Amino acid sequence: MFNALVLNQQDKKTIAAIEQLDESALPAGDVVVGVKYSSLNYKDGLAITGKGKIVREFPMVPGIDYAGHVISSQDERYQPGDAVILTGWGVGENHWGGMAERASVRADYLVPMPAGLDSRKAMIIGTAGLTAMLCLMALESTGITPDKGEILVTGASGGVGSVAITLLNQLGYQVVAASGRATNGEWLKSIGAHRVIDRAELLEPARPLEKQLWAGCIDTVGSNVLAKVLAQIDYQGAVAACGLAGGFDLPTTVMPFILRGVKLLGVDSVMCPFEQRLQAWNRLTELLPESFYAQAATEIELQAVPEMAEAITLGQVTGRTLIRV
Ligand code: NDP
Repeated sequence: MFNALVLNQQDKKTIAAIEQLDESALPAGDVVVGVKYSSLNYKDGLAITGKGKIVREFPMVPGIDYAGHVISSQDERYQPGDAVILTGWGVGENHWGGMAERASVRADYLVPMPAGLDSRKAMIIGTAGLTAMLCLMALESTGITPDKGEILVTGASGGVGSVAITLLNQLGYQVVAASGRATNGEWLKSIGAHRVIDRAELLEPARPLEKQLWAGCIDTVGSNVLAKVLAQIDYQGAVAACGLAGGFDLPTTVMPFILRGVKLLGVDSVMCPFEQRLQAWNRLTELLPESFYAQAATEIELQAVPEMAEAITLGQVTGRTLIRV
């Protein structure tokens, strides 16, 4: 038997409760993982509260990422005891996820734990950190180097934003954090922001082109904020867009693209190919300082997840939330 947070639907409402399940209840997969840590991402918040149509089939174990050890494997790439990481691939959405002591999954979805990481550190990074790294790699692919100017990070206090700030700072970029929470200013500086601006400055409707302010941007917010940022990007700069914390629309014009050669780079971590994931995990391991793991995360247990899930959908969570399974 193992403990799991299970989502069910009653009268079209999502109910989350801890249940004891038999291992025979696990969905099909060729590797069974003993989960040590999972993490709470914005998408988990939407799934657990039922605020977003993330889960298509109930009952569902949420948790879009996890790390732990292989318990049994029918795939020759993995042996019992191997440390592994899982992020994305629809796990926690249409396949049981990481908020349980056991998970069963396709071997193709797993990433071997890089040397230098452990389950706890891997989930302090989690899907949010992987996404931040993929965004940074997207900006680098366009030739944006630290000497080109300031890089803006929106949704700065969140999981993706906070890891992005640390990574950029480690690589020598001048990082500007855009946050809606003035109380987080000092914390944002402590994790690597050189200065902090108020999100409100980016919420004003954008003119087609505005004063050029940023060499690049990692945007987790979308909507008006992304439109504003596009109008303020330097000639031949780029925005890596991965999120919709402020909305999924994009009220912009083609002007930044056709007159300044600005690039809008879409970033997805869910279906990201294995080689790119591996590269991103190796760079995360290399770049994140020990201090990041102490400063960037709050640790909770499964019982506390529903309350934190509500908070993350309201934009009230700071940094990463690690779940000790
Ligand atoms: P978090 O909730 O941890 O962070 C989001 C941050 O955005 C908040 O902390 C807040 O920061 C800011 N924010 C919240 N609400 C609003 C709002 N209404 N308007 C403007 N800003 C707001 O989420 P994550 O970091 O986990 O994820 C961020 C986004 O990225 C989400 O939309 C998520 O779905 C997406 N995502 C996409 C992935 C992909 O593969 N493409 C993978 C992972 C995440 P502050 O208070 O500092 O302003």
